[in-house]
Amino acid sequence: MPPFTSPASRRGRPSEHARLLRCVQEILERSDRAVPWDPDTVGLPDAHSDSALARINDVAFYANARDEVTNLAGVCVHLLLLHSPEGDDGSRCQGCRLPWPCPSFGEISRLLG
Ligand SMILES: [Zn+2]
Repeated sequence: MPPFTSPASRRGRPSEHARLLRCVQEILERSDRAVPWDPDTVGLPDAHSDSALARINDVAFYANARDEVTNLAGVCVHLLLLHSPEGDDGSRCQGCRLPWPCPSFGEISRLLG
């Protein structure tokens, strides 16, 4: 099962928020620690096309993937920290003050799941 996948019935529970936050924090940590891609470090996969432009696109993707994954995981961490249950009962979102789970967390959970 992919790390983000969870039944729709679990979405919105505080434990589901903690699980998603832990998943994106782990992705952020792994991408931060990863050696940046270089043709000499891990090589270049075989091309799926004879197009030079497609190959340039592949190389640009690999060259930027580590930083882009780090940035995207960082955005997810910040969104989850912003939209998190607040207080002892966790009945409201600390970011938007709407009843928990707020629509933003619901959408984040749906998109990651
Ligand atoms: Zn919210």
